[in-house]
Amino acid sequence: MDIDKVVRQHLEMEQFFSGFALKGKGISPEPQRQENNHVPTVRCPAESEVEGMADAEKAAELERIAEEVHQCRKCPLGSLRTNSVPGEGSPNARIMFVGEGPGADEDAQGRPFVGRAGQLLDKVIKACGLKRSEVFIGNILKCRPPENRDPRADEIINCLSYLQRQIEIINPEIIVALGAHAARTLLNTTKPIGQLRGQFHEYYSGIGRPPIKLMATYHTAYLLRNYSQENRRRVWEDMKKVLTELGLSIPEHSTG
Ligand code: SF4
Repeated sequence: MDIDKVVRQHLEMEQFFSGFALKGKGISPEPQRQENNHVPTVRCPAESEVEGMADAEKAAELERIAEEVHQCRKCPLGSLRTNSVPGEGSPNARIMFVGEGPGADEDAQGRPFVGRAGQLLDKVIKACGLKRSEVFIGNILKCRPPENRDPRADEIINCLSYLQRQIEIINPEIIVALGAHAARTLLNTTKPIGQLRGQFHEYYSGIGRPPIKLMATYHTAYLLRNYSQENRRRVWEDMKKVLTELGLSIPEHSTG
């Protein structure tokens, strides 16, 4: 056994989740990409339209989707919510994180991943050398299921088109599916997350469009409930593959 490698992986993993400072080369997303903090968000444009869209047009399309979501009553969750949660982030994101649905904090604020699981996702994003405003964060369901129960098939069927349209507009290079529900839904499979995570899959966003790479990993809410070294190491390994696929350097971390 390569003890040095094991120790290094352990240190990386510990630092990954413990509020370390980043040092070294850092990660520079494509220089031509402009950061856009506008919270997006409706008509589904044709593929050729999307390719020629400027950031402002993409943001406006995402804004229209958000407006539709706010008005939506297609499933019973629409009458139970405090706020709908369409998703937010850069219309030009290279990475889209997709979870299963809003929780209590998200329902209260109308924003995705703002509770404890969201704070852990923020750490993951930061550990990757990225800012939350550089990625897009959304969910399969746009309204909170009662008591955070699992999404039901009819709810997913009614809601999925919003996310599909967001993906078409943003056209990210990689989708990171957080947890079993997101991964199974986007990959149309019933396999367990343990089999899906750790490898790239392909998500097809439309006929004639090249597939988008999809990395499945554990949901940060699952990580909080099962905060073992092994699970944290697995998520970190998954994210390192995402960074490598994007041609981004893996940040060096320091506790200093
Ligand atoms: S969960 Fe989705 S389909 Fe159901 S009411 Fe909310 S936005 Fe509409």
